[in-house]
Amino acid sequence: MHLALYREFRPKNFDEIVGQDYIVRTLKNQIKLDRLSHAYLFCGPRGTGKTSTAKIFARAVNCTHSIDGNPCDMCAECVALSEPNTDIFEIDAASNNRVEEIRDLREKVGYPPLIGKYKVYIIDEVHMLTDSAFNALLKTLEEPPKHVIFILATTELHKLPATILSRCMRFDFKLLAINVLVEHLKNVFDKKSIQYDEKSLHLIAKAGEGSVRDMLSIADSVASFSDNKIDYESAERVIGLSNKDSIKNILNAIAEKNVANLFTSVKSALGSGKNIQVLCKEMADFIKNLVMIKSGIGDYSILDILPGEYAQYSYMASQFDLNYLKTAFSKFAEIELDLKYSINPENLFESACLDLINFEERAYVPVNKPVINPVQSQVEVKPIVTEKEQTEIEKVWGNVLIKVKERNLFALSNALTTVNKVEKIANKLIIHTNDQGSYQMIDNQERISVILSLVKLFDDSIAGVEVEYDKSNASKNDIKDSLKEVFKTKIKFKE
Ligand SMILES: [Zn+2]
Repeated sequence: MHLALYREFRPKNFDEIVGQDYIVRTLKNQIKLDRLSHAYLFCGPRGTGKTSTAKIFARAVNCTHSIDGNPCDMCAECVALSEPNTDIFEIDAASNNRVEEIRDLREKVGYPPLIGKYKVYIIDEVHMLTDSAFNALLKTLEEPPKHVIFILATTELHKLPATILSRCMRFDFKLLAINVLVEHLKNVFDKKSIQYDEKSLHLIAKAGEGSVRDMLSIADSVASFSDNKIDYESAERVIGLSNKDSIKNILNAIAEKNVANLFTSVKSALGSGKNIQVLCKEMADFIKNLVMIKSGIGDYSILDILPGEYAQYSYMASQFDLNYLKTAFSKFAEIELDLKYSINPENLFESACLDLINFEERAYVPVNKPVINPVQSQVEVKPIVTEKEQTEIEKVWGNVLIKVKERNLFALSNALTTVNKVEKIANKLIIHTNDQGSYQMIDNQERISVILSLVKLFDDSIAGVEVEYDKSNASKNDIKDSLKEVFKTKIKFKE
């Protein structure tokens, strides 16, 4: 039976963990010096080794003959703990997030371990716990029994309450640099006698996007496709094209407002065995390239495409309006994580696509020029919003800010100072911020309706308000200087 590479090469001790040297050294030292903490927090992107490290740590703290901090794999404790056992608990908070489950855990932590010195609770995706479950967990973290160690793991640190953070020893797992991934991949291929060339190593490592697990899953597909003789062409084919075709079909269906084609394209993309979360991520990546091309970027080191693909991308980009692409990009980026926890991810994904079909200002821009060569890559961007309309909406926004201040809505007013761009799209006001805290503060039904009611005082054609979190700082200076001038006396814009 073929064992997936990422399973076969899952690290069995600290020394096999790739690229998290600082964390590994610290944990090993704690074991050697017997200075263990009762609660650890492992945070960082998925696929960076949080759970593997937690499992190794759980065995190492119980090992009676540990070698340089590593579990020896020989002693009775190591042997017993490598089988299913009652001392190491793995809880996925995404599916066990209710307060009852944490209460149940609290009851059980009282009983001493059966095998070694410690019971270790590994709580994965801990940010998914409900508020009451957090409170229950907190009580246990406040006075943990001596024989208990908690390891909380999360991809979303900002969703954890400060009370939990302050009780844990925190380790930040990092995405791996490409050269580290290449080295590891080379090692794996050599051990498995898989043939490869340098160029394909890089391509596969890059596709892993910093994650060993993702890289090895991709490597698996490429190796099977090329019968263990990997060359650049086969790697490119597996990684690139198969994905891009289905993405293009979906995007085309959206562009043509063809609902029937949309459903068929999604179905066939998933029919080829693709995971919907991966599909969604690829949609976001693909559209990001279109956004960049549309914004005039022609540099391959920034664009994530291969030379030779530019013409195709450029053609796709020309079919959409820039604002539309930005909306589409945020939409897919936004639902990517939700998909993982959705009961019916397919519906969620399809409804996001339908939203885009219905998006009013999709503004098809007809292609009337030959496809542009990357060397002279200034793609003309036709704004759908005129200069005058933009000035109007910024005036409205200025007035709204004054009202917010007048009404002494301090928290909201503070959050709104980080807004660096406002747009009116159809009958919606979209406000942009690249400050995550402010975004979370504003993106709340009650506050949005306050903003809407104030906006309506100055422009009653607006029927909705949306706030968008721009991760990049690209739109930082989009607020017009003139607007800052006008309201300088009353509003302080954050510089
Ligand atoms: Zn041992």
